[in-house]
Amino acid sequence: MLNSPAPVDERPLEFTEVETPTPGDDELLVRVRACGICRTDLHVVEGELPMRRPHVIPGHQVVGEVAAVGARVESFPSGERVGVAWLHRTCGMCRYCRTARENLCEQAEFTGWTANGGYGEYLVAPAAFVYSLPEGFDDLQAAPLLCAGIIGFRSLRLTGIEKDNWSGARLGIYGFGAAGHVVIQVARARGAEVYVRTRDRERNQKLAEELGATWVGNSKDEPPVKLDASIIFAPAGELVPIALKALDRGGVLVLGGIHMSAIPSFDYSLIYGERVVRSVANNTRKDGREFLAEAARIPVQTHVQTFNLGEANEALIALKHDAIRGAGVLVI
Ligand SMILES: [Zn+2]
Ligand SMILES: [Zn+2]
Repeated sequence: MLNSPAPVDERPLEFTEVETPTPGDDELLVRVRACGICRTDLHVVEGELPMRRPHVIPGHQVVGEVAAVGARVESFPSGERVGVAWLHRTCGMCRYCRTARENLCEQAEFTGWTANGGYGEYLVAPAAFVYSLPEGFDDLQAAPLLCAGIIGFRSLRLTGIEKDNWSGARLGIYGFGAAGHVVIQVARARGAEVYVRTRDRERNQKLAEELGATWVGNSKDEPPVKLDASIIFAPAGELVPIALKALDRGGVLVLGGIHMSAIPSFDYSLIYGERVVRSVANNTRKDGREFLAEAARIPVQTHVQTFNLGEANEALIALKHDAIRGAGVLVI
């Protein structure tokens, strides 16, 4: 659990005994088997996201099995394998929830931030927000799909490229960690050319090449063609003008993170030509279900690096220092 936010090098997560939670009427008790680590966990632990729940247990890419069900739950039998993701619960009544935009709900609860998450043995989650997982993925493979994958999928949707126009589309990806390595597989399967700009030649650039990137470079290298759309997964605002410069007229730049350093000012000419910059905020359950189905069809293969639960601080330190190839996963 997180007692108080601090730089992760100070090891702010404490490994401790806590009571097993009791599920409410509409909730499941899930015994955690694996939990992916995400940059958002790092933002929670280090305090870039304000503390919303004291002593929170982070983690929102949870693969586990149903250990108990609340009185009103009929959807999941005990023992079924399930996934718990970032969107923990929404109000269901606000103007966003009523118009298929529950990702924007102002009353939303989030796993591992406002509610306890998967860096532990058990958690509770509303059954209506829990996913069934396709059988083709084992627990470790499935974990990174639950945020890196779902948010990556929503980022692809927000590029505005229609289903029939993906073939031959030129997509840029900035930052090549857990989300990038899933998104490239989805985009390639849809027929896109993918241009990856990322640090770390040995680890990230090599993985991008292996996964079929058309071109790989760092942020100083300019891609050889103008891009139809790009997604920035790195939390670095200085990449925005760099990415706009490489974007074709009418192109969309999607910012895939929940937190980003300040964006430097830039000339209007970089965004003129009907270029668009937009962020991604959370996801709807529909995104999650559609992504899991598409990932199973492709099938996406996640590259994971595992850590034990007691090594959660070390896992986040490795994430912070770009030392993870693909996605990090805690094994519970
Ligand atoms: Zn709402
Ligand atoms: Zn996440």
